[in-house]
Amino acid sequence: MAKKQFKAESKRLLDLMINSIYTHKEIFLRELISNASDAVDKLAYRSLTDDQVGLSRSDFKITLIPDRDARTLTVCDNGIGMTRDEMEQNLGTIARSGSLQFKQEMAAKEGENQDVADIIGQFGVGFYSAFMVADQVTVISRAYGSDEAWKWESAGADGYTMTLCEREAAGTDVILHIKPDTEDDDYDQYLRQYRLDSLVKKYSDYIHYPIVMEMEHS
Ligand code: ADP
Ligand code: MG
Repeated sequence: MAKKQFKAESKRLLDLMINSIYTHKEIFLRELISNASDAVDKLAYRSLTDDQVGLSRSDFKITLIPDRDARTLTVCDNGIGMTRDEMEQNLGTIARSGSLQFKQEMAAKEGENQDVADIIGQFGVGFYSAFMVADQVTVISRAYGSDEAWKWESAGADGYTMTLCEREAAGTDVILHIKPDTEDDDYDQYLRQYRLDSLVKKYSDYIHYPIVMEMEHS
């Protein structure tokens, strides 16, 4: 299937993430949980006035599914989801607030010829931070009110694909294919339950929804 190309500025940020030597790569989890929480907020808000949502406050949650055999970590939410167009728009550009600020900062630092790695942690780098720990990212999403789901897939800066798929209900799964360990970087840690638990405590304690762990293999 033909790959779609990222916009030039997205490509640059992606390259930066993929080749990052940043030592706090763990912040990707904070970013993905924060996105999941935003999406759940939107559907929870909607449920106040729309009976069709069929979920009440206590049904909303974020699920982490580490799978050591498949080497994947999935961040799953039952939030508002994304349509095909929204997926292309939101995951293919960095026009988002946090990312935009990051981009400007990055340009400024480059002008001063400084290392850009140290500014990654200061800003909400957003979705693309997944590429610091994953060599392939798959996003499966079904928008609330739509009966079709879409799969967005990318192995990095050379583009992404979009295919029609299935999902039982509204929400999003972000599936990270975790990089192999290197001498310098322990990526396996992101497949370990206790490590994920401590990252959730450290960075996502303020999230209003339950963050539950599901083990794919025991
Ligand atoms: P930001 O969160 O600052 O907007 P991100 O790069 O983190 O930037 O995310 C980009 C956009 O992608 C979000 O604004 C949102 O529209 C969409 N998005 C990301 N993750 C999800 C998700 N789990 N559910 C629904 N939309 C999402
Ligand atoms: Mg975000």
